[in-house]
Amino acid sequence: MKRDLLLFDGHRFQAARLALGVVNVKGAGSPYECKESGFWRTFAETDLSDETAIRHFIARYGDPVGRLPAPSPVANWQELQETLKLAATVWGEPDSDGICHASLDAATLKSRAPGGGALTVPFTLELKGKATARRVRTLADFMQVSAFTMIANRTPMRRCDACGYWYGYEHGGKKYCRPACTDVALRQSKKGAA
Ligand SMILES: [Zn+2]
Repeated sequence: MKRDLLLFDGHRFQAARLALGVVNVKGAGSPYECKESGFWRTFAETDLSDETAIRHFIARYGDPVGRLPAPSPVANWQELQETLKLAATVWGEPDSDGICHASLDAATLKSRAPGGGALTVPFTLELKGKATARRVRTLADFMQVSAFTMIANRTPMRRCDACGYWYGYEHGGKKYCRPACTDVALRQSKKGAA
């Protein structure tokens, strides 16, 4: 199956602080190219009063609604979270390998969504070798398109063995969500063997 690549040019920030429901960061952040699928579900499950969880997310992906480095109230993240929580209901309980399979069809999900689940996301289309890539403009768009693409493709989901974040289980046997987590696991297994 030919797969379209979904991309987003983001900024992520270290050492975010949460006070009185507002996230603050120092500095302008560092640019990165986002292309991992599945972490939208980790965002959906993030407790918006948990500073550590929010700090981890922002250090990896940045501000879901793109306000940072200006102060970003987490109240603005709730609507996006609700949409993604609804998307997550498509997947069933994990099997013995920790893999969740899509068990709800898109039409049923749409009937549950407020406003019929219509999604309008602006993106630019790029050619990447023989494949096409869609580059969306915000992290919120990225997470929503990622979620809806995974629903359409019935992509199984799993939690990373290293960091616990959700990822799209597209290749059999892949236990980690990203190369950095594979490296962490490799270093730990070497340590254990030494
Ligand atoms: Zn991971």
